[in-house]
Amino acid sequence: MYSAYIPYGRQLVDEEDISAVVEVLRSDWLTTGPKVAEFETAMTDYTGAKYAVAVSNGTAALHAAMHAIGIGPGNEVIVPAITFAATANSVLYQGGIPVFADVESDTLLLDPGDVENKITSNTKAIAAVDYAGQPCDYDALKEIARRHDLFLISDACHALGAEYKGRKAGNLADMTVFSFHPVKHITTGEGGMIVTDRKELADKMRRFRNHGIDSDHRLRESQGTWYYEMEVLGYNYRITDIQCALGISQLRKLPDWLSRRRRFAENYNHLLHGTGFIPLTTRPHVRHAYHLYVGRLPLSSDRKTIFQYLRDRGIGVNVHYLPVYLHPYYRKNLGITPGLCPTAEKAYEQLITLPLHHGMDEVQVKTVAHTLQQALVAA
Ligand SMILES: *Cc1c(COP(=O)(O)O)cnc(C)c1O
Repeated sequence: MYSAYIPYGRQLVDEEDISAVVEVLRSDWLTTGPKVAEFETAMTDYTGAKYAVAVSNGTAALHAAMHAIGIGPGNEVIVPAITFAATANSVLYQGGIPVFADVESDTLLLDPGDVENKITSNTKAIAAVDYAGQPCDYDALKEIARRHDLFLISDACHALGAEYKGRKAGNLADMTVFSFHPVKHITTGEGGMIVTDRKELADKMRRFRNHGIDSDHRLRESQGTWYYEMEVLGYNYRITDIQCALGISQLRKLPDWLSRRRRFAENYNHLLHGTGFIPLTTRPHVRHAYHLYVGRLPLSSDRKTIFQYLRDRGIGVNVHYLPVYLHPYYRKNLGITPGLCPTAEKAYEQLITLPLHHGMDEVQVKTVAHTLQQALVAA
């Protein structure tokens, strides 16, 4: 019955994707060729943002965004306690200080009230995370950013295809960051993208991904000039044409994959109703993209036992995430102690992520739900 392991997330790659990649392998360009611009255009078409900059991974995309808004030593960026470490790490890469704000207990999204509490004269930006695939309260966050003259960055690595009040992720902040890691909605193996309506920010990020050099190879060739200048210290954060060909092909399937993810999440909600498992709340004015299906176990239950029960039966449950500042690196280097964000810390104790990806089927969803139900009875 439990023959196949069901991971919490995984990619789906079909023959069409493979052909798209092979075609590039036979072409003249392996990196920074026509597929990069084509993938960027596909993403601006999809999200509705004006500019897109593709980079080597989602973390590089966050780093480029922090660079573009000029984060440097002494600058504070407010980040949620519950996110993947990269959101906060990208602030440290620039010498800035990540300041952790608490999350709302029912959605685990950045709490605008606590963002306001954490603002100081050194605050330069807010990095909101659309945790699990649900957009944050952007009306509130935008208003705070406007009032305090802060940049608003959306880490939408969980939220490609999500919507807030009829607007897609990519149009809800000054810059929006996506990841194409295999567990995300679409994959390029490794890959990331920033979308924005602001040309000056896009231009800065284009330079940043290519050593700080002001024009790429093709542009120089078209200008017939050998000359280039390095204006700032950048990195090699380029993505390859091979990867972008995969991304373009994957993006075509996104609408179908999103509806599968949404349907499976609904199935879970239905199947787990009354078992004691409480899914996170979805706000009425959003369309959830369901990168993750996350809920809370009952306070009376022991997560370790339930986790092991499911893993032993081939179900790839996971936990997203330990509040970032509780990682040893943050405790040691930022001197943070437990108690900083009590809602996040309390929620973390009961959180569990159930398998959810577009390559699953309804039978697997049922298997997961039934096994969790049994675990809750047994525990
Ligand atoms: C995946 C992810 C990232 C980083 O993306 P990579 O492509 O793995 O570097 C950043 N933030 C969040 C919230 C993520 O889930």
